[in-house]
Amino acid sequence: MHTKTIAQLAKGLRAGDYSSQELTASYLARIKQHTELNSFITVTEEQALTVAKQADMALATGNAPLLTGIPIAHKDIFCTQGVKTSCGSKMLDNFIAPYNATVVEKLDTAGTVSLGKLNMDEFAMGSSNETSFYGAVHNPWASNTVPGGSSGGSAAAVAARLIPGATGTDTGGSIRQPAALCGITGLKPTYGRVSRFGMIAYASSLDQGGPMTQTAEDAALMLQAMAGFDAQDSTSVEREVPDYSAGLNNSLQGLKIGLPKEFFDDGLNNDMASCIETAINEYKKMGAEIIEVSMPNLKLAIPAYYVIAPAECSANLSRMDGVRFGHRCTDPVDLNDLYIRSRGEGFGTEVKRRILVGTYALSEGYYDAYYIKAQKIRRLISDDFKRALQEVDVIMGPVSPSPAFGIGEKTSDPIEMYLADIYTIAINLAGLPAMSIPAGFIDNKPIGLQIIGNYFAEDKLLNVAHQYQQVTDWHQQTPQGFA
Ligand code: GLN
Repeated sequence: MHTKTIAQLAKGLRAGDYSSQELTASYLARIKQHTELNSFITVTEEQALTVAKQADMALATGNAPLLTGIPIAHKDIFCTQGVKTSCGSKMLDNFIAPYNATVVEKLDTAGTVSLGKLNMDEFAMGSSNETSFYGAVHNPWASNTVPGGSSGGSAAAVAARLIPGATGTDTGGSIRQPAALCGITGLKPTYGRVSRFGMIAYASSLDQGGPMTQTAEDAALMLQAMAGFDAQDSTSVEREVPDYSAGLNNSLQGLKIGLPKEFFDDGLNNDMASCIETAINEYKKMGAEIIEVSMPNLKLAIPAYYVIAPAECSANLSRMDGVRFGHRCTDPVDLNDLYIRSRGEGFGTEVKRRILVGTYALSEGYYDAYYIKAQKIRRLISDDFKRALQEVDVIMGPVSPSPAFGIGEKTSDPIEMYLADIYTIAINLAGLPAMSIPAGFIDNKPIGLQIIGNYFAEDKLLNVAHQYQQVTDWHQQTPQGFA
């Protein structure tokens, strides 16, 4: 049953093909069997079985919510009451969250059964899951390659069918890029659509949580439970949540797809370009119209992001001071020693690099030159998207410049690593929703197609993704050894 989608499992539970307790036990067994992937930081076996039992009782009443009894797992960036919430860092290795993130709370209420917490890049900084204090995650498609990051544990676990769905977060690509590299479906919602309360902040103006699943149909089901206004998050938007499953089968006849010429220039290798072209052709067959668009400021996205994100993270991570929670050094001689050694010991290299860059960019004298400048570029990029989205319904392109790269291949060169997000980062700067869906293979490694939509057009994205999944089977492929 582990190859089934959430939608299929929900039917099976109602048909009595298996109970949630059986389902949960079977996924827990798979998680134990595949520890070589290193996708989980914490497995909450006992808790999961208790919740599954309650789910079975709810299912027996006949009116339990749709996701009742469905096993999932959370990226370890979401606070889970009474359960370690490490954010992939030594700094929070001893942190037991005293409350639930809103996303966790909502998915609990929707009836899901959480099996544990998933590995990730430290504080969500990375594109390969190699910055985790708990070690690299292995891509189930090729164990010597990375699963992408920062939601690498989520992507690897869903791809290996250790869970049918997971939560992830995306600040510059962290849902879409690992989804692409692991051959699954990932959705980064519009900024403000999903509450950030209890989601450990990396870059607050960019962070957004979203679902990672096998199919668009499942992404719709998970997003339905996750989305909505939250008075505890001042950036969450008070706007009705539509029925995300309702329009999945709408026809794509006359859909206008924009292809930014900047996505398809010399930077994109031939294999990747031809996979994307094949995918676009499927859309043409479904009646879509292709329109070239231009977004001249896209090339500035990486430099702008790598000022804004570090600036925000340097402020956000200042709360990890060894005093209130998290790692504390032994026998500090005075307060400064406590700060310096606790932070020095608790944070990894990439996190320290970002804090230094961010502190520099925000310091007097450099603030105007770097931070204000980056914010101006951010506006130009948003305007590029706004203009393009007046002409077209969705924009398509690659997710990542290459399929999964080797473990260790880019760790010595941060700039190389940053370029892994060249096609995803601009979308966060603009605050738009976007998806990655499986769209083929290069050298037996999955690649993703990116679909970008207008603000709050998640329903449109899901429709466009679902229709593609009706005529292709990339999303059904399972890595060897995990079928
Ligand atoms: N790879 C990007 C970074 O390191 C994006 C990470 C993310 O989306 N959380 O900042």
